[in-house]
Amino acid sequence: MTPQYCSSCWHEIEGEASFCPNCKSTHLCSEEMLAGTLMTCLSHPVREYRLIAVESLGNIRYEPAQPYLTSIVQSEQDTEMRDAAVESIKKIHLYWQNSDQETRTVFYEKSDMSEHTFR
Ligand SMILES: [Zn+2]
Repeated sequence: MTPQYCSSCWHEIEGEASFCPNCKSTHLCSEEMLAGTLMTCLSHPVREYRLIAVESLGNIRYEPAQPYLTSIVQSEQDTEMRDAAVESIKKIHLYWQNSDQETRTVFYEKSDMSEHTFR
């Protein structure tokens, strides 16, 4: 079973819950949808959103985010943001070393990032 996420606070939801145990929101989404939103938030004007997006992409081990995280590490002036990006890259690396790469790649090729716009 694929995990669900809260689209309000991005909390990971275990099992068959119909609402978020963290913020009580009933707006749940798939990992794919969450990743699309997070990718858009990497260029969000509000620093706090960017930081959360950087951390969350690491938490869901979203491999296509790696080049973006790498460019944050290389160009970001903000130390906290850089550290968060480094941590997320490490998490993604560790995860991908120990998992079935082919299955995950096929899954992510289906998602088209350009369709996701920030609301
Ligand atoms: Zn929530």
